[in-house]
Amino acid sequence: MKVLVPIKRVVDYNVKVRVKADQSGVDLANVKMAMNPFCEIAVEEAVRLKEKGVVTEIVVVTVGSKTAQEQLRTAMALGADRAILVETEENTQPLGVAKALKALVEKESPDLVILGKQAIDDDNNQTGQMLAALTGMPQGTFASEVNVADGKVSVTREIDGGLQTVELSLPAVVTTDLRLNEPRYASLPNIMKAKKKPLDTVSPADLGVDLTPRVKTLKVEPPAERQAGIKVASVEELVDKLKNEAKVI
Ligand code: AMP
Repeated sequence: MKVLVPIKRVVDYNVKVRVKADQSGVDLANVKMAMNPFCEIAVEEAVRLKEKGVVTEIVVVTVGSKTAQEQLRTAMALGADRAILVETEENTQPLGVAKALKALVEKESPDLVILGKQAIDDDNNQTGQMLAALTGMPQGTFASEVNVADGKVSVTREIDGGLQTVELSLPAVVTTDLRLNEPRYASLPNIMKAKKKPLDTVSPADLGVDLTPRVKTLKVEPPAERQAGIKVASVEELVDKLKNEAKVI
């Protein structure tokens, strides 16, 4: 069984992002980049399925610039067998990525595609759903548990107020939620081994897709600065301020 894991290179989650002076986006100059955390969970799940003997091959793919090879190598150090870079200098958007992934699904015929539920840079939460719609594959989103057996995958989903379990026939699309697993760290020997694993580069034109952005960002603004707090002398003063200044009670 083959698994395709699409991963995205994003600003490292520890970085406090700064908005560019012209408000056109987030400043990426000299900022630490990393694999999107939900994609790390997707890679980990694929590796665990391989360790269980369910999966035989894990292919990781990213749509992005040459620099994203770094994240593909990290994924291979974590256990993926080979990687594909769909090289573009465009700022990627879910529909374009989903179209590129559809072309790769047709070429690679994976039994399962495991994506992150969302990329933490643009917070779109769209790519997996769009891929499922474009390919006609069933989808299990926000997975907190994944089990593959008898040509089917059962996905436990985190929904409002509880858990829902759905059973999908393969091939299927799964997107990962935070509690699915805790990703491992890559060991030094595996980082060295990953340097020798195959990494193919293709262009969007090779796949017959156009990645020109369809959505234009008009303006990006940082959240309002938090005001400094004050100390009150008594409960009476606190109640008075909540009632008459903040007007919340
Ligand atoms: P999004 O819909 O942008 O929030 O992203 C959801 C998931 O889609 C990510 O966690 C990745 O698994 C996948 N994805 C998004 N953008 C890309 C990209 N440029 N290359 C590969 N996979 C991507």
